[in-house]
This record gives sequence, structure tokens and C-alpha cells, in this order.
Amino acid sequence: MRKSFTFEAVNHPVADIIVLWYDMNKRSLPWRETRDPYLIWLSEVILQQTRVIQGMDYYLRFASTYPDVFRLAEASETTVLKHWQGLGYYSRARNLHKTAKIIVEKFKGIFPGTSAGLMKLPGIGKYTAAAIASIAFNENIPAVDGNVIRVISRLYGIKENALSGAGYQLIFNVMVDLMQGHSPGTFNQAVMEFGALQCLPLSPDCPGCPVRDHCFAFSHQKVDELPVRSPKTEVSVRYFNYLVITVKKNGRNYILLNRRSGRDIWHNLYDFPSVDNNRVLNAGELAGSQDAIHLLGSDWVVHHETEPITHLLTHRRIIARFFSIRAHSETPAMKNYHAVMVSDLKKYPLPKLIDNYIHQYFREL
Ligand code: SF4
Repeated sequence: MRKSFTFEAVNHPVADIIVLWYDMNKRSLPWRETRDPYLIWLSEVILQQTRVIQGMDYYLRFASTYPDVFRLAEASETTVLKHWQGLGYYSRARNLHKTAKIIVEKFKGIFPGTSAGLMKLPGIGKYTAAAIASIAFNENIPAVDGNVIRVISRLYGIKENALSGAGYQLIFNVMVDLMQGHSPGTFNQAVMEFGALQCLPLSPDCPGCPVRDHCFAFSHQKVDELPVRSPKTEVSVRYFNYLVITVKKNGRNYILLNRRSGRDIWHNLYDFPSVDNNRVLNAGELAGSQDAIHLLGSDWVVHHETEPITHLLTHRRIIARFFSIRAHSETPAMKNYHAVMVSDLKKYPLPKLIDNYIHQYFREL
């Protein structure tokens, strides 16, 4: 339960109240115990698009496996992706690894000490740079994330969309004013935490809110209308007909894995070979597929096929069917894939859809 308090406003009442509220209500989180830019960066990247409760295990795992930027830089990208498995948005992990290498190779392991310097690194945008610079280096710069946008838009009745340049700038300017006289890192975290715990998107606790008397949205009954939201991005549908091919080589059974490349989802993760991905096929259609015949030759049999499985990503709906196939001989086209022993499958970074399938159908793992 959140603590209540009475206060004497000192400078800017709203800022003072939120900082005091933060002091009394903030969650105890491991990345709040440090000013090490490496650990703050790690937590910020993990928490992008991820809830604290889900990100916590990943943060603890990364912080113990890679306690400093040197350890992260010397790891292979495949290992980093494997540790990231299940968190989604894999470009974050690839950029994390790229940036670690740059910091070690170009900056001798020392993070740039300003938001402008940090923004030159892969995967570090305006928000992340400001969060690291304000918390680790005390730079007076607002870190504007979704929580900050919501709190400030409601408090000050900002009707411009924060994703427009003008809307973002308005919120940024209000934050600059408010944070004067406060530690920038503390102030940024206070507003974010206030948005995460008090001024929630759907059910903000307005009756118990300590800045209620200063809040435009509350006094004008506009809480449900602010912040102004962007139109929803359309969800696109992708289809995959996955061929889970078992083939015998040198007397042992192998499964073929496909390393994903190109500018597409799951870049550098592994899935299975797939064919005719413009709709879901059935086994009869697969037998007539030229791509399947090219890959499998003529001597193969489908042991099992799943029902179509729907898997949701943020802006995509994936519909996949898995065909479990025994190929009696290796074809030249199969050499384009990685032949992996079943017991080794878990060593590879896999999209959640593939990992779920493997756990369901390869029970020995
Ligand atoms: Fe948010 Fe309600 Fe407080 Fe306004 S009164 S800041 S809308 S919780």
C-alpha cells in the first residue's frame, strides 16, 4: 500500500511533491542501487518495452553473467542472444553487444559521460541516453518515456501528441522546468515511478493522488483523454510452414536449423527451414510444394503436423504450422542449414515460438 503524507511545498510544488512521493513509495530495484553507467544502461535496455517484473530475471542474469562491459564485449553474439531468449525485440540484444564492443575497443571500457555522446552508440536513443546521463553522470536532462508523457500530459493538459516533434518538446520543456533544484537522475526516476504506480494508464489513483490539486486532467475531467494517443499501428499477419527435418548423418540423427538473416524479424536467431510462407499449407499441399521438393528431394515422410499455431508479436500476428519430417537422405539444399543434434538444440538462441514447439515435441530437452 502506498504511504500518504502531508507536505510543505518548497520550490515547484508539483516537483517537490513527486520527489517526496518517490522517496516514500519507490520500489526497491537493483539498478537503483548503483550509479555504474554499465548497469544502468543494461537495465534501461532490458526494460524498454518490458515490464519490471519480466525484466528483473534478465537483468540479474546479465549482471551476473556479464558483470562489466568487457565481459559482455568478449561474449559471442549467439551467447548474448541465447541469454536474451524470451524477452523479444532481439535488436536490443544485438545492439547491446555491438555497443559493448565499441565501448571496449574505442573508449577503453569507459562510457561517454554525456547524453550527446551516448546517443552515438547503437541502440541508445534520446530516452536511454538521458536516463543514463542523468542517473550516472548527473546531467540535467529529462528522460521522456511513456510514463513521463502520461504524467506531464495529464498534469499540464498537453493535448499535442508526444510522438510529434512539437508535443515531445513541450513535455521536455516542462520537465526541464520542473527538475531545477532536484537531482536530475532522482527527478527523472521519480516521475517515471509516479507514472508506473500512481498515474496509471487506465486506472490512475486520482482520489489518493498527492498532486491532484495541481492536475489539469483531474480538474477538467480529462483523465481518460490524456495523453493523446497515436492511431493504433495495424497488425500484419505472417505465415510460416516450418519443416522440422530429422536426417541421419554418420549414424546419428540431426535436426536442421535455419539461421535467420536479412532485415526481418528474429535476425541472427535460429528457426527451422520453412517453405511457401504466404499461407498455411496442409500435408497434401506440402507434398506438391516445389520448394519442399527442392529441399527434401523425393524420399521423405511427414510424421506429424501441428494445427496452425498463432503467436503474437507487438505489431505482428504469426500463424505457423510445424511439419515433423523424416528425410531418408541428405540433399544438397540441406547443406544450407545447420545440422544440430536434438540434445544441442537448447544451446541456440531461438524465437519463443520455436522454443515452445521444441519443448512440447522434444520432451527429452
Ligand atoms: Fe494522474 Fe490523477 Fe494524479 Fe492527475 S490526479 S496526476 S491524472 S493520478
